[in-house]
Amino acid sequence: MRSQKKPVGVVPLGEVSEIALKVIAAHISGYYKLSVQILPPLEHPEYAFDERRFQYNAGIILKAFESMRFKDYEKVIGVLNPDLFVPIFTYVFGEAKQGGQFALVSLFRLGKNPDGSPSPSSLIFERAAKVALHELGHLFNLFHCREKRCLMHFSGGIQDLDETSINLCRYCSTYLKDRLLRLNLLGSEERLRQ
Ligand SMILES: [Zn+2]
Ligand SMILES: [Zn+2]
Repeated sequence: MRSQKKPVGVVPLGEVSEIALKVIAAHISGYYKLSVQILPPLEHPEYAFDERRFQYNAGIILKAFESMRFKDYEKVIGVLNPDLFVPIFTYVFGEAKQGGQFALVSLFRLGKNPDGSPSPSSLIFERAAKVALHELGHLFNLFHCREKRCLMHFSGGIQDLDETSINLCRYCSTYLKDRLLRLNLLGSEERLRQ
């Protein structure tokens, strides 16, 4: 029965650090107890480049995902190096359609500390994992949380992201677990980490 559960797909867009992909996949299976597959890379999303902003439009990439064949995957997270934006924000670390199938994680802004100094790779990977788990939370219909330490707290900058916990608060954790049980993605014996 377990083998029939659809996995979460992690797909690089263009050339992306293999370690970053593995860290993201490991966190999804470790924290959310879901099966995960790293997919072959898709092309660099040149079609989403905005010439005025010199950034990539997250909404256009998510739209393009809809026409791709991802039916064997419960959710799909695209990981890419370029800087992403949505029209109302200067930039975003990631983007997801609430309750949808597709999300994005950009590694572009994760390499520097709030003071502009370069960050160690362990911290960069931890940030990437946080963004991926946060966006995946949106795909499972978790909304932003007021609890400052919760993973689902909104992060407007790198400092916010570093202050945010990689764990969900008790409320969000319970909600997610209930959601995964309903979708038959979780064995009833499994407990999400608090
Ligand atoms: Zn969010
Ligand atoms: Zn929460």
